[in-house]
Formats: sequence, C-alpha cells, structure tokens
Amino acid sequence: MGLLTFKGGVHPPHKKKFSENEAIKILPLPEKVYVYTAHSIGAPAKPIVEVGDKVKTGQKIAEAGGFISANLHSPVTGTVVEFTKLVNAASGLKSDVIVIEREGEDQWELLEKTDDHTKLKPEEIVARVKEAGIVGLGGAMFPSHVKLSIPKGKKAESLIINAAECEPYITIDYRMMLEKTSEVLKGIEIIMHTIGVEKAYVGIEDNKSKAISHMKEAVKNSSIEIVPLKTKYPQGAEKQLINAVTGKEVPSGGLPIDIGAVVFNVSTAYAIYDAIYNGKALVESGISLTGEGVKKPGNFWFRVGTKVSELLDYVGIIEEDKIDRVLYGGPMMGISLPDTELPTFKGNNAITVMTKDVAPNKETMPCIRCSSCVSVCPIGLQPYLMKKLADTRKYDDLTNNNLMDCIECGACSYTCPSGIDLTKSFKTAKKVVRAMKQRRG
Ligand code: SF4
Ligand code: SF4
Repeated sequence: MGLLTFKGGVHPPHKKKFSENEAIKILPLPEKVYVYTAHSIGAPAKPIVEVGDKVKTGQKIAEAGGFISANLHSPVTGTVVEFTKLVNAASGLKSDVIVIEREGEDQWELLEKTDDHTKLKPEEIVARVKEAGIVGLGGAMFPSHVKLSIPKGKKAESLIINAAECEPYITIDYRMMLEKTSEVLKGIEIIMHTIGVEKAYVGIEDNKSKAISHMKEAVKNSSIEIVPLKTKYPQGAEKQLINAVTGKEVPSGGLPIDIGAVVFNVSTAYAIYDAIYNGKALVESGISLTGEGVKKPGNFWFRVGTKVSELLDYVGIIEEDKIDRVLYGGPMMGISLPDTELPTFKGNNAITVMTKDVAPNKETMPCIRCSSCVSVCPIGLQPYLMKKLADTRKYDDLTNNNLMDCIECGACSYTCPSGIDLTKSFKTAKKVVRAMKQRRG
C-alpha cells in the first residue's frame, strides 16, 4: 500500500535544506517588544496594564476579549512604555499594540504548575491553557482552550498531531520533534487526557525520514502512533490531514469535531506541556528564519513581539536589491510583509526571505481553461470559475460555488500556467462575503 495522503495538491520544491540541520538556538532578548492585542483568531484581548507599569516575563498584560480570544502576557521583564497602532500585515489595517521596554534579564511570573497532569481534571487543564494564552502555532493562531473544549453533543475519537510541515522552507516543527521529543510527547498526552481519547496519530511527511524514525522509537509501547504521509502540499491543512490519516472527510462548512477529530500542531503540544508542567504562558516560541535571501538560515527560539528586522539582523540578509519579498510563514500561504519593522506574532513559525531569482514570474496571461487549478484543488473547487465570478463581483454565485470552503492554500495559483493569482482573489472575495453577511445580519 502507498503512503497515506489526500486528493489533489501540488509538489513545490521543499527547500528545507537551508535550515533542517540547524539546531534550535535561543535568540538574545529584544530591547523592546511590540505585542498586538489581536493575537489570535477572534476578538482582540483587552489591555489590563497602563503606560509606566512594571511587568515581569509571563505576566498577563491583556485579558481575552471573548470565548474565541486569548490572553496576552509580557514577553520580557520591563516597563510598558506606549500604546500604539501598527499595520497588521494579515488585514492590512492598523491594529493596537502594547510596547514594552526590557529592563535586564527575565524575572518570570509563573502560572500554577503540576508535576503530573493526570491529577488534573480536563476542565482544569482547559482553564490553565486558557490562562496561558495558548493559540495554534501552525500559523492559524486559533485559541487552544476552545479546541480543547469539546462541544456538548460531540465526542472526540481521535487526536491528530499535525507534524506534516508541508510548506516549503519551514523546519521548526521538524527540529522540535528531534530536539524536544519528550516535551512534545508529554504535550500530546496532556491533550489526550483533556479531550478523552485513547489514541493519537502524529502525521509526518516522508521527506522527514529522520523525524519519522526518531519519533517511532520514542513512542514505542505508547498509544501514540506515527503515521508517515506522502509529501504533498497542502498535506498539513487540517481537513487534508484528517482525510489522509483517518480516511474521513470533514463536511463542507463543518468542523473536524463533527467527525470526531481534533487536530493540534507539534509546537502547540509543546506550548501546552510548557504551560502545564512549567507554568509558562506563551511568550516565546520556535521560528525558522530562512530562504535564499538569508545569510545564515536556522531555527530559533524567539520572544513574541520582537521586530522582524531584529530577527533578520541576527541571521543577516543579502543585498536589498536582490530581495523580492519577506514573508510571515512560507511562500505558499505566507503573508508578504509591507515593512520588516513590524513585529512577530505568537503563531509566527517562519520568516522567509525570497530572492527575485526564485520568486514566481509575476507576468499574468489570460486563462487558457487548462483545468490544472481544478485538479490540484484539495477541496474539489473550480478555481478558474470562481475567479471569473470574483472578477465580475458575483458574490452570491461565488458562495454557491463554495467559496467559503477555500482554505487559501495557494495550490491553484502555484499550478496556473498563466500566472493568475487565483488565491489572492479568493482571499479578497471571502472578506467581502463576510462583510456582506454581517451587513445583512
Ligand atoms: S490553471 Fe490557470 S489557466 Fe488553467 S484553468 Fe485554471 S486559471 Fe485557467
Ligand atoms: S486556494 Fe482555494 S481554490 Fe485554490 S486550490 Fe486552495 S482551496 Fe482550492
């Protein structure tokens, strides 16, 4: 039997070689951090500090603004010096930021911790994860306490750990599996205990053979199973991963829990371990600083809110006129940064610096109806038709053609021989449809 996978998808070059053999290094503490209050999917957090307040590392500085929201904590020990607004590259809009100036080394304010998570009830773990402000670190930044709270009437049957890391260039989850193995596994056990499942599956693409064999050895005699997956983009998208591992399909408009699945990323499992066993709120995380434009690519432990320019200074970048763009994330789903003076988020798993000679040719030609975009769409959508509808602003027809099921994976744009950026149109159209829905009530 061949390796497990999903239908559709593309095979971009892996480009993992830049950083895959680089062990995670701890970056020096930043002098200032810039913490967006909108730091997760859902409502922004509400600040509970004022300018002039002294804060410790890990001290709460903003309260979750709703159930789907996450607490924020200070990434350094110092003083709150300013409330300002900076562009949020994801929305293009200005967003509230708390600025903290560091004073000396860390003095941690720790949360309640335990030496045995099995002594804690699931609801206690959910509360501690919520308190620690943990969000999904695979990029989506969905609040973890919400995922751990199984809705009434639903039952979790399987936990799937996303270790596919299918985006080109990014290698931090790979390094986490090699270097933080026991912590990641403990995090998986905590999640299993919390959602009440007997079995967990760790899906790893077969281009990470070292991680597969290392993790297989580490989970011997446990109820965690390592599932090698075919290397194909977007293997790490939630619905595609569930389909590859379980053979089940999340229905259109549905959630993984509708078919009994719960998905967490490798680094999120680590963050959950760190909160429950070490009492650490989520103020630091792993990141790959990589791409052809980086002089010394690698994997690092960074403080949330560090400016991208400061991270890039550490690894060095090549001449500016050779650089095409700097991305939060990888080239397929990453967000192009308008300015490297912007700060990092909790969920930043990579900064990729792409050079002009490797960036895709931006010349756009008319659609030749080759249907390549249809065959690669992992959701089974008709991107060329959706693009036509988006261009003519037929939003109701677009919705009927399942626009909202598009996971913005970029596979259609990647494969299009005419260089049409279909995904960009769908991202914009989804924002318009959401706004129209809100207006219609
Ligand atoms: S891949 Fe590009 S050219 Fe081919 S049908 Fe889709 S939009 Fe048209
Ligand atoms: S971006 Fe959307 S339409 Fe394009 S391949 Fe991905 S899911 Fe399909």
